[in-house]
Amino acid sequence: MSLTLHGIGVSKGIAIGKVHIINHDPVEVSEYCLPKHHLDDEVVRFENAVSLACQQLLHIRERIPKDTTVDVAGFLDAHLLMLEDNLLKKVPIDLIYEHQCNAEWALKMQCDNIVQLFDKMDDPYLSARKHDVVQVVTRIQRILRGYTDISYEPAQAYLANTIVLANDLSPAETVFMQHHNILAFATEYGGTTSHTAILARSLGIPAIVGLRHARPYIQPNDTVIVDGEKGVIFVAPDERSLRYYRMRQREEKRYRAALSKIKTSPTMTRDGTPVTLHVNIEFPEDMTAVKRVGGEGIGLYRTEFLFMNRQQPPEEEEHFDAYSRVIRSLKGGLVTIRTLDLGADKQFVDSRSHEGSSATNPALGLRAIRLCLKDLKLFKPQLRAILRASALGQVRMMIPMVCGLQELAQVTKIIEEIRTELHSKSLPFDPAMPFGVMVEVPAMALCTDLVTPYVDFLSIGTNDLIQYALAVDRSDEAVNYLYDPLHPAVLRLIKMSIDGATQAGKPISMCGEMASDSRYVRLLLGLGLRSFSVNPEAYLEIKQTIINSKMDGLARLAKKILKTSSQADITGLLEAINA
Ligand code: PEP
Ligand code: MG
Repeated sequence: MSLTLHGIGVSKGIAIGKVHIINHDPVEVSEYCLPKHHLDDEVVRFENAVSLACQQLLHIRERIPKDTTVDVAGFLDAHLLMLEDNLLKKVPIDLIYEHQCNAEWALKMQCDNIVQLFDKMDDPYLSARKHDVVQVVTRIQRILRGYTDISYEPAQAYLANTIVLANDLSPAETVFMQHHNILAFATEYGGTTSHTAILARSLGIPAIVGLRHARPYIQPNDTVIVDGEKGVIFVAPDERSLRYYRMRQREEKRYRAALSKIKTSPTMTRDGTPVTLHVNIEFPEDMTAVKRVGGEGIGLYRTEFLFMNRQQPPEEEEHFDAYSRVIRSLKGGLVTIRTLDLGADKQFVDSRSHEGSSATNPALGLRAIRLCLKDLKLFKPQLRAILRASALGQVRMMIPMVCGLQELAQVTKIIEEIRTELHSKSLPFDPAMPFGVMVEVPAMALCTDLVTPYVDFLSIGTNDLIQYALAVDRSDEAVNYLYDPLHPAVLRLIKMSIDGATQAGKPISMCGEMASDSRYVRLLLGLGLRSFSVNPEAYLEIKQTIINSKMDGLARLAKKILKTSSQADITGLLEAINA
């Protein structure tokens, strides 16, 4: 029977294919006693589960794509070693005999013991290793429970050309899967500007989030249609729907082909106002997409993705290598490297040792520059690498989530020390490398005039600016209805930032997702924005909108919108702007 489910469309496009379900649900461990004569069999059951866990990990290890940039093998090796250790291999067997209990219970007891031991350790690195133990134990538990889709990793071999359905996907998992030709994502949780949604857009993969309670209605291998624009998923569609959506796919392809004709046209409005249009990237590999659309500069390079799916932070050389690849590929174009923005939904194993993930409000906690200033071992190698990379081309350094001048002063001091160090080692760098900040905490927008004397440029990060201004978690679909780029408070903060920077003669851009949405381009031009940085998939559409726009009247309409209180009136005025 056909079925239609509604969620939030976060990445446009149509996908038709078979579903692959990723099951993250925690395993419920049953606890029961066994007669003595069953204990040997129980031990065999446990040993088989451990051996299957090893086979699964080896299977995954053999299939790591050659071009994977992250140290997935190291991560798997660590788990394999744990499976070989008597703490997990032998002690649970002793517990089965001692307590005359089932394997799951014995394993749980032993896991709790190990976690307690780790918790007592002062060394944050060692204490963070407990997460690995829990992951390995979960793998065995799931096998004992008879789950076949034990986690996303072993499923990799089956991911190609499927539509992935999960309760939620972390940005790290999304990265993990990007090599596997996924047709689309659909998750039960997640918000419009969660990093998973941003990645899906960046990869050009249709995606829907917030499909609450979808999994009971969809079985593995069901054929589905994903409409990433409308946020609708059709389960077991009839022939008519399939024909209609195949036709839409062909139209989409034709539209994209037509857009590519403006690839080399200058980016300026119909009445001749030049506009800067840059691209947002997450990986050096994204440069292929940048080239495809004719992008000439990077307005936001989210470097934190280099930290995902690995055990150790990247060293200076790895940072340097990644930045060099982007710079070389752009052949003289501008590259804005943002220092790492880990924390909140983008966790790195090590940052857990700072309790970032368990904080009551991770998005308000130790994230981005706050984490960096607390953990200089994480930060300094990156700063050194960015400075060294500045000798190779036009590089700018941008700091995320700054909320005060104090933080800026601290960063500037560290950069100064690194410059002296590089100089003493005769390592080349650009002494005039521009230094800028993201305006993504309302405090920054309100204090633009105080900040501009200390920076060379600014970039508005609307994803967080909206989240913090409206107190709406950007990853939480339950409050997604409140996440509104057109809220008067958001528009006023944007206007204040643009005016503040312009008056101080400092360039300001927008790299948040609002800039990638063609509905807002004219409004933003009317508010005085002349520089956009957008995801590669949106690039040509935004360029087309700019080329089709006339500045005449836009400032007047934008001013009117700023003074309008009702949402309906604002929407009406926006329609007038876009007409
Ligand atoms: C933003 O907040 O708008 C932004 C560009 O940064 P990120 O999405 O990486 O938090
Ligand atoms: Mg941000």
